[in-house]
Amino acid sequence: MTTITQRSQAILSQIENAVFTAGRPSECVTLVAVSKTHAAPSLRKAYLAGLTDFGESYLQEALDKMQQLADLPIVWHFIGPIQSNKTRPIAESFSWVHGVDRLKIAQRLAESRPPHLPPLNVCLQVNISGEATKAGCTADELPALAHAVNSIPGLRLRGLMAIPEPTTDVTKQRQNFKLLAQLMETLNQRVLNHPGLGMDTLSMGMSGDFVSAIMEGSTMVRIGTAIFGQRHAYSR
Ligand SMILES: *Cc1c(COP(=O)(O)O)cnc(C)c1O
Repeated sequence: MTTITQRSQAILSQIENAVFTAGRPSECVTLVAVSKTHAAPSLRKAYLAGLTDFGESYLQEALDKMQQLADLPIVWHFIGPIQSNKTRPIAESFSWVHGVDRLKIAQRLAESRPPHLPPLNVCLQVNISGEATKAGCTADELPALAHAVNSIPGLRLRGLMAIPEPTTDVTKQRQNFKLLAQLMETLNQRVLNHPGLGMDTLSMGMSGDFVSAIMEGSTMVRIGTAIFGQRHAYSR
């Protein structure tokens, strides 16, 4: 049977292989282990296998695991939908938030970020394949949102995040990821006297498409199933 330890190490080496194939510098991609629904002992195994960053989607469940794993210096990423009444605990407990798609949510996160902590790292979620039901701002809404978020103290605008429509077609996977990379490049460009946004993070790629994402410049892949196996309801 393959263990979490073996799968964690296998994914780390698949990431480095993809980085090498893409001709990019080694260790330019961070693996965020998506541990939603999995219990704390599984995260501990992955941590001991070398994973340091964990992504969670459900607040209560995440807070429970943070308590159980308080002895480990884990970097916690909130990757789920953000309800406006949950912004305070998110801003208090996480280092990164990936799914920001509205200015109001960004403002609430900033107001709740404790002043003794470094600014909260934020990625803006873009609805890249234009699916009606998906979260994320549109490509048209993005520039105004990015400039507004960039000016909020307490937040550090790091980059963009997308969850494209799932497909096994590698060409389509890469087209969607390329689009997100181009959006970030455009926003980073210096225009007249504006210096550009200086974002450094493309949060893109999951279990089924992370190699394509790395080929298109991903700097953070969010991988769950390929490390922890199928998801079931959370229980301690
Ligand atoms: C669940 C989830 C993932 C991980 O998906 P896998 O296919 O299990 O790797 C990545 N990103 C987000 C935002 C998720 O909700």
